[in-house]
Parts: sequence; C-alpha cells; structure tokens
Amino acid sequence: MSLIDDVEKVLISEAEIQERIANLAAEMNALYSDADRPMLICILKGAFMFLADLTRHLTFRHELDFMEISSYGRGTTSSGAVRILLDLATDVQGRHVIIVEDIVDTGNTLTYILRNFAARKPASIRVATLLSKPSRRQIEVPVDFVGFEVPDEFVIGYGLDFAEQYRNLPFIGVLKPEVYRQS
Ligand code: 5GP
Repeated sequence: MSLIDDVEKVLISEAEIQERIANLAAEMNALYSDADRPMLICILKGAFMFLADLTRHLTFRHELDFMEISSYGRGTTSSGAVRILLDLATDVQGRHVIIVEDIVDTGNTLTYILRNFAARKPASIRVATLLSKPSRRQIEVPVDFVGFEVPDEFVIGYGLDFAEQYRNLPFIGVLKPEVYRQS
C-alpha cells in the first residue's frame, strides 16, 4: 500500500495552497519592503514546506533561521508540554521577526514561542501560520497571517505529519480512521 492510499480526503489542494501562499507573500512584501533584513523563523519540522514556498515569493531581503519545538510525539492530541529541541543559531535582538508555523491548534505552542521570543528583545514580531483551528483554541494568541482555517480534524501533508509520515504530501488532507487506530 502506498502512502496515498492512507488518505481519506483532500481538504486543501496543492493549487489552493500555492495560490494562498502567493497572496500571503504579497501582504508581507508590502509590509516589510523597507525593513532591515527581517528574520523568518521556521518552526520545525511542520513548517519546512510552507517556509520553502513562502520565501521564494518574498521580494525583500531577509534571513532564515530554524527552531524545533516538541509537540505531539506520535499521538494526535497535545500533551500541553512544550520544549525547545533545537534553538536558533542567530541572535534576534533588535531584529524584525516573523515566526512561520504550520498550524495553530490550542495555541499552547505559539504562546510558549512568543513568550520565549519576547525575552530575546526583537524589534518586532509577527506570526504567519499556514493553518489555524480556531475551534480548538485554549489560549488567545495573536496571529498576523493565516493561510487557511480548518475544522477540528487531525490533518496531515504539506509538512504536517502523523507519526513522522505524510509530511511530503503536497496537499492538506485527512487520513482514514483505521490509520490513526493502528498506531
Ligand atoms: P498547539 O500547541 O497549538 O495545540 O499545537 C501546535 C502544534 O501541534 C503544531 O505546530 C503541530 O505540530 C501540532 N498539530 C496541531 N494540530 C495538528 C494537526 O491537525 N495535524 C498535525 N499533523 N499536527 C498538528
């Protein structure tokens, strides 16, 4: 059985994602045209594909850095505990920062990230997330750029995994229930 056979449905197609990212990038291009080399911070692993497509549409000079945050392990619900697995290589003090996330669900991870960044004293901080699940929010958290709002379903693809699989799929989808049950 190939990877694609595990997919029950496609929620957001590859073409829809690409079109939306081009629009988000246009908003950013307008906002940051005069800013001194903003830093895009990719939250690994889920945001790697979003970052890669987004950065190719940006016309202002910018730099990239990466941070890995622990999240769900192998399950589909958050443990609430958040940890830094890989920290930035760059000092962001005085820099304009754009956090690039895959999905904001309960808001716990992003709240942790924003608190952590506040201590690093950036010149400004904004958040871009490809997906948001507003119905699941436990903490109100500011998000400046949202690709798509999704319903309360565990989604995979376009960087998002289930048990480290399916990140390579070029669309956002939902798996067949038996796949979640098997693990
Ligand atoms: P939060 O802390 O907002 O509840 O969750 C944020 C993190 O949980 C995301 O960065 C992502 O890694 C993971 N996550 C939340 N919802 C989903 C989902 O539907 N699918 C996948 N694959 N990961 C999710």
